[in-house]
Amino acid sequence: MGRVYNFSAGPAVLPEEVLKEAAEEMLDYKGSGMSVMEMSHRSKEFAAIIEEAEQDIRDLMQIPDNYKVLFLQGGASQQFAMIPMNLMKNGVADYIITGQWAKKAYQEAQKFGKANAVASSADKTFSYIPDCSDLPIDEDADYVYICENNTIYGTKFKTLPNTKGKTLVADVSSCFLSEPVDVTKYGVIYGGVQKNVGPAGVVIVIIREDLITEDVLPGTPTMLQYKTHADAKSLYNTPPAYGIYICGKVFKWIKKQGGLAAMKERNEKKAKILYDFLDQNKLFKGTVVKEDRSLMNVPFVTGDEELDAKFVAEAKKAGFVNLKGHRTVGGMRASIYNAMPIEGVEKLVAFMKQFEAENLK
Ligand SMILES: *Cc1c(COP(=O)(O)O)cnc(C)c1O
Repeated sequence: MGRVYNFSAGPAVLPEEVLKEAAEEMLDYKGSGMSVMEMSHRSKEFAAIIEEAEQDIRDLMQIPDNYKVLFLQGGASQQFAMIPMNLMKNGVADYIITGQWAKKAYQEAQKFGKANAVASSADKTFSYIPDCSDLPIDEDADYVYICENNTIYGTKFKTLPNTKGKTLVADVSSCFLSEPVDVTKYGVIYGGVQKNVGPAGVVIVIIREDLITEDVLPGTPTMLQYKTHADAKSLYNTPPAYGIYICGKVFKWIKKQGGLAAMKERNEKKAKILYDFLDQNKLFKGTVVKEDRSLMNVPFVTGDEELDAKFVAEAKKAGFVNLKGHRTVGGMRASIYNAMPIEGVEKLVAFMKQFEAENLK
């Protein structure tokens, strides 16, 4: 069997070109006689890899000079603690709860100070983004926290919340590099890369310099201080070197596709194919309110659990894998990240049409 169409929410599909290049360089990276996995993180080869990776993501996202780019470990989940430990100077932060990842971050922050849930969409199984234009932002809040794209529920903030002047912190794990962003609107943008950028094991943190200080909560471990990693240019200890190398290749691949504006156009085109079908057909339906739909994660159901299971099983046989929805939503979820080709979505929709014809009672 060749490669499948992998609709996994993460770890997820990577560009085939990137995988092929990595395979070619596996035994001998550019005449070094070794793979990137085997080389010193202090070598000149690796220095070039991490410096180029940083420059390429800076170019792609147009990251201003007063922001640092950190390549860290511990996944997105470690940031749930690092953010309050480093940023809660007043001991207060406001959280917008739009799904499980935001909720986990909120619960973790409660260990370190007063975390307020200022808005939530839990009342309707997180199927929408709450109105965030006039929230009761705490005067002492050190930051306002969002999960910008909700991987499990398939919603996305189309407008950023009005933080009333407070620093915005965003988990962008599942929409990283999917469209252009105005970095200056955020204090911190971070994401685990295994959704849209690279292999698990790397989390990228883009943080405004004035937020990187020694004034952190008492007891914050050295490894969990942004300053440690910023001062050492992400080489305080051995970084996730191979993962960073693959991320670097993905950055170059995105540049070759035309950058983030081109990615957005492509992602909108892909998502439209699937959403248009969901809106028109009689068997499947999307679970998210239209205006808050994610371009990356598309949950849908038939309304009949047995039929959902049958669809997932038959889709798998036909080469469309990892379509089972998250256990808390049920049904199906198609994650259509940057590296999912348009034909993958077109073929999935053709398959869904056929399934509809065969199963509609
Ligand atoms: C997957 C995911 C996480 C958790 O990532 P880990 O790297 O496994 O800790 C957090 N936030 C979002 C939005 C995610 O999609």
